Amino acid sequence: MEGGFPGNGAGVRDVDRALVYSAEDQWSAAIDRGGPIDFFGSRLQLPVQLRFGDFAAAQAYLDRLVSSYPGTPTVALRTRRGAARAHYSQGVIAIPMQAPWACRESVLLHEFAHHLKATDSMSPGDGGADPSGQAAHGATFRGIMVRLAGDMQAPESGLLLRSCYESNGLAVPVYVD
Ligand SMILES: [Zn+2]
Repeated sequence: MEGGFPGNGAGVRDVDRALVYSAEDQWSAAIDRGGPIDFFGSRLQLPVQLRFGDFAAAQAYLDRLVSSYPGTPTVALRTRRGAARAHYSQGVIAIPMQAPWACRESVLLHEFAHHLKATDSMSPGDGGADPSGQAAHGATFRGIMVRLAGDMQAPESGLLLRSCYESNGLAVPVYVD
């Protein structure tokens, strides 16, 4: 999940990484179950996140992600042996398909968010002024994640993810189309 990409955030310390993982773990657990949750006194209906039983299913979902954001450069998917975590680097997402958690939608969205950030596809020019936006898991990354969850799953999922980040003290920029 490191998401290194030369020239895009390289050299900026990725200080938020552990808190981002922790926030996304909470969000992912909630959308594993789906259904209604209490959200600050309101009832929120969560979607159930997708799980991919094989490589072809994960590849098909990734193709759908790329086509959902016109202008996004293609991204390759490959399996990663002997690794616990998924990883993104220079247009390639590597996932350990033998690990059941890796076949979840939340993981593919996370790695695809690295791709969008690295290729400046969703928010061209963003992250220039705010150094925290430049880090691999910084504010720009989190804004992309929240938007992906809202677009690809449901607005409620994006809302919950934003709340998980913010309750960990992590700022999330608001996107204006
Ligand atoms: Zn990552």
